[in-house]
Amino acid sequence: MKIPSNRLDRGFFRYQSEFEAAALAALRSGFYIMGNELGSFEKEFAAYCGVPFCVGLASGLDALTSALALHGVGEGDEVIVQGNTFIASIISITKNGAAPVFAEPDDGFCIDVDDVIKKLSAKTRAVIVTHLYGMVTPMDRIVELCRDKGLLLIEDCAQAHGAEFAGQKVGSFGDVGCFSFYPIKNLGAFGDGGGVTVKSEELAEKFRIYRNYGKREKADTVVPGINSRLDEIQAALLRVRLKHLDELNAERRALAGRYSEEIKNPLITLPRPADNTDPVWHQYVIRCDERDRLRVYLAENGIGTDIHYPIPPHLSTAFRYLGLGKGSLPGTERLADTVLSLPFFIGLTEEEQGYVINALNAFK
Ligand SMILES: *Cc1c(COP(=O)(O)O)cnc(C)c1O
Repeated sequence: MKIPSNRLDRGFFRYQSEFEAAALAALRSGFYIMGNELGSFEKEFAAYCGVPFCVGLASGLDALTSALALHGVGEGDEVIVQGNTFIASIISITKNGAAPVFAEPDDGFCIDVDDVIKKLSAKTRAVIVTHLYGMVTPMDRIVELCRDKGLLLIEDCAQAHGAEFAGQKVGSFGDVGCFSFYPIKNLGAFGDGGGVTVKSEELAEKFRIYRNYGKREKADTVVPGINSRLDEIQAALLRVRLKHLDELNAERRALAGRYSEEIKNPLITLPRPADNTDPVWHQYVIRCDERDRLRVYLAENGIGTDIHYPIPPHLSTAFRYLGLGKGSLPGTERLADTVLSLPFFIGLTEEEQGYVINALNAFK
């Protein structure tokens, strides 16, 4: 049997007729940017997340970068971010001229709040929390810390649409929730897309102005903004997927439940969600000291896997200038050396998953 690590076509075929009808209607409407589909999607996604406002943007990276920019984070500021996050979280900081300060992850892949406290300095302006792999950061302590210290709190929710802490959706805890709608995400478009969730009309309006060159009315540019707009076709397609997001996340929870139940191999450590969290399982990420040997073994058995992420941001070429060598973040580096993402996608069949589980259990 051949099982790739991901298959997006199955997620499309699940709702093929709805997707095709929505795309066709958007094409025929004559409005392609900043029309009714965008406005409707923004209202629906905000309501889904339990926040008053959503503003659509062109990508998750733009969501993070503009969230920092619109709060004046820049030169001379430090932003604390977890070492094991996706590179975009770091680029959003450095693009604004600010300095990333890395905190170590905890046992559940989430930022370790005790390490955040250790990394605070007089220059700290913000904290970015990533709900990595659809796991959920327990938000109580970090919200309290940021409130006490007057820090901006940004949630990187690019992998966690619909995930909850204490019954409350991610993207509703911080000052800004940043989302990506890149095709592989839980709420994926059919191209690039992103957005933010915010709690005040004033801040929502700042994002709306900023994403469209900084234009308030047609004529006047009030800030030098950017071009970052979620187009009508993507918004229309996202509205279809959003309608089904709860059932899609339920399918992911069932797949994760079966992996957790049936993988039994002392060489493999399974992911463990923190208390009071309801993850949405963007990836199913195991750990294994012999990860590279396991990966080759699975490939020989026709099973595709992925590594999120093999080179942690602080060791990537672009960020060498920070001067953080190997050994500077042992917890982060250990994860980079041991994590493995199993085949995990909408439409993974019972038979395919059983095949993966048997192969894992037979690994010696
Ligand atoms: C995907 C992702 C992003 C960036 O989103 P894009 O839409 O690709 O720009 C940011 N952070 C995390 C954690 C992601 O997974």
